[in-house]
Amino acid sequence: MPIYARPSIHAIAGYTPGEQPVGLSKLVKLNTNENPYPPSPAVQRALAEFDWQAMRLYPEPTARPVRETAAEVFGIPASRILCGNGSDDLLTIALRTFVDAGQPFAFTAPSYSLYPVLADLQGAVQRPIELDPDFGLPADLLEQAGDARLLMLARPNAPTGTTFPKEAIRDLCGRFQGVVWIDEAYADFADDDCLDLVAEFPNVVVSRTLSKSYALAGLRLGLAFAQEPLIDEMLKLKDSYNVDRLTQAVAVAALADQPYLRELVRRIRATRAATAQALRDLGCAVLPSQTNFLFVHPAHRPAAELFQALRREGLIVRYFDLPRVRDYIRITIGTDAQMQEFLDAFQRLDQ
Ligand SMILES: *Cc1c(COP(=O)(O)O)cnc(C)c1O
Repeated sequence: MPIYARPSIHAIAGYTPGEQPVGLSKLVKLNTNENPYPPSPAVQRALAEFDWQAMRLYPEPTARPVRETAAEVFGIPASRILCGNGSDDLLTIALRTFVDAGQPFAFTAPSYSLYPVLADLQGAVQRPIELDPDFGLPADLLEQAGDARLLMLARPNAPTGTTFPKEAIRDLCGRFQGVVWIDEAYADFADDDCLDLVAEFPNVVVSRTLSKSYALAGLRLGLAFAQEPLIDEMLKLKDSYNVDRLTQAVAVAALADQPYLRELVRRIRATRAATAQALRDLGCAVLPSQTNFLFVHPAHRPAAELFQALRREGLIVRYFDLPRVRDYIRITIGTDAQMQEFLDAFQRLDQ
């Protein structure tokens, strides 16, 4: 069989998403950081009132209604907002806009496992920057990033759930000569965020998603915030109609319902605190989480074994067989009832 793909594409494995089982009924799904609660009732209304006949028309190319709603919600002009088909789409646009093939792309590690895959797809030179033993930023991060065109980091970080001091990020933005991309997929669950750095620095992009905190992973809507020169370059790279008409209508409704978002976040943070405490009481090491998941070093059994044992009981968590993280399991925060079911099984199995 001849190889038809470009050699650089044929050579790489591609990204492996977390398992999405087909029959959900019997499983407790705590593996891909989805929200256990339904999206806002405003989403249901938007779907019911949606003009299906309008689907024959192309959507507004830049998702203007979404950008205008986001502008009000976040207090940032619509001209500084770019919408994507999920924030993964925005991360792809970032690599294509800022890093030519053969140029260096820096990213922290361990972090979102999509970053190195995007580097390979673009033919960029990977420049991973290892976090400290406690998953903090290394003191020589700037030197390591060097002349990279783009530096990407997740704050709060995945899969660790931990965050970085904001002052360190601000300092980095001021001193790094390339673009700093702050992936804030989990910022709604955190104590602070870096959105204000967009006004402060011409080289900063902050990205958000409706997938986690808004309970809309099935919709696919991401937002990037940056000053106009960066946004305008990225606009050239995106697909002409990267956010469909239905997504635009639903995203506007979801973004406008901020009280509902705050209630979801309040519940998940409360469940997170209770679950972390319960796991610590069982002797586990639990990293301090600013996200909707916990990164846990089990007290007794190896993480890989425990992951399999939980799986056999219908409890799906995430396990990464990668350096530095293979002794941990990542547990998405579900409802209180789901976490109780998880804790009961965990206590039984981690012996
Ligand atoms: C989930 C996640 C994303 C992707 O979000 P989508 O908007 O669903 O594409 C991006 N970055 C990090 C760190 C994530 O965990």
